[in-house]
Amino acid sequence: MARVVNFNAGPAALPLAALERAQRELIDFEGTGMSILEHPHREPPYGKVHREAIALLRRLLGIPETHHVLLMQGGARAQFALVPMNLLHPGKSADYVVTGTWAKQAAEEAALLGKARVVVSTEKDKKFARIPAPSELEVDPGAAYVHITSNNTLFGTQWPSYPDTGGVPLIADMTSDLLSRAIDVSKFGLIYAGAQKNLGPAGVTVVIVRKDLVAGARADIPQIFRYKSFADSESLFNTPPTFSIYLMRNTLQVPEEQGGIPPIEKETRAKAALLYGAIDARPEFWKAPVEKGSRSQMNVVWRLPTEELEKKFLTEATAANLVGLKGHRSVGGVRASIYTAVRLPDVEKLVAFMEGFAERNG
Ligand code: PMP
Repeated sequence: MARVVNFNAGPAALPLAALERAQRELIDFEGTGMSILEHPHREPPYGKVHREAIALLRRLLGIPETHHVLLMQGGARAQFALVPMNLLHPGKSADYVVTGTWAKQAAEEAALLGKARVVVSTEKDKKFARIPAPSELEVDPGAAYVHITSNNTLFGTQWPSYPDTGGVPLIADMTSDLLSRAIDVSKFGLIYAGAQKNLGPAGVTVVIVRKDLVAGARADIPQIFRYKSFADSESLFNTPPTFSIYLMRNTLQVPEEQGGIPPIEKETRAKAALLYGAIDARPEFWKAPVEKGSRSQMNVVWRLPTEELEKKFLTEATAANLVGLKGHRSVGGVRASIYTAVRLPDVEKLVAFMEGFAERNG
């Protein structure tokens, strides 16, 4: 079997066990004589999978009873709109911390619906190569919420710890780092993530939201856009993306069986330390643009001395079965996305390849 090492930013690598299970079960799901793809969403065979996916999220992330877990569609970008539609009441203002392209787009969507204030942006001074210090965050105490992007998939930055926003609900787009480290969910008003990085395949979006925020959310918006519709129906308000949720269930079972978040967090740290260590060991050859304290443990970005060498690096890496290393088109260079399904031996292979390449071309 010719599986490659997949460093794509998303959709991204999935655990082989999750895919193999789907392959085994595809035609005849648990002796029902039909595929999970063919099961109605309100009947028990799918219902069990649906509830299991939610229960796995609750267990793995330690989600308290104060919060709903919703499974929605439209990707993380739909949440850029749904957060202000639900939570930005008329006359209120929301605070946005702009640390990258996704954060900026979230703020722009909110500005179409109400008042969105950019508290701080790291675009001009540092081209998004750093996360702001806590002292730079002058949160409006009357704001409806403060929105951050926990990990910047394109620029390779990540909040090392989360800001204290006092009584103002903290909302985080955790699309590219949810499930990579322990988080205290109780500190957040709302967390959302498109599943296509650490959680599973594209097509389902996870929303973790404080129950009181849902209870007090705007009711003058269409039902399909209300968090309340999904909270009241266990995310069966309309037909959910059943196969995406099934595959997310399979994916989440892998870390569950391997001891949950603590070993994942340990491996996340080890993988990032190994890769940044290799980059830092040859500063004349590899250039990491991100400030050290803001480096992402999920998306590692770096440059080579010339664009020609970058092209050569990517071509030779692909030939060595190390794929998906091209930097985002708006940033260029190299990016290795080392989500949880990319394991330590995979990163070791990349580092060995990098050392050989630097030797030959340095
Ligand atoms: N936010 C972040 C941090 C992302 O990385 C992405 C996608 N890469 C998005 C939002 C957009 O997600 P989607 O395509 O699911 O709308």
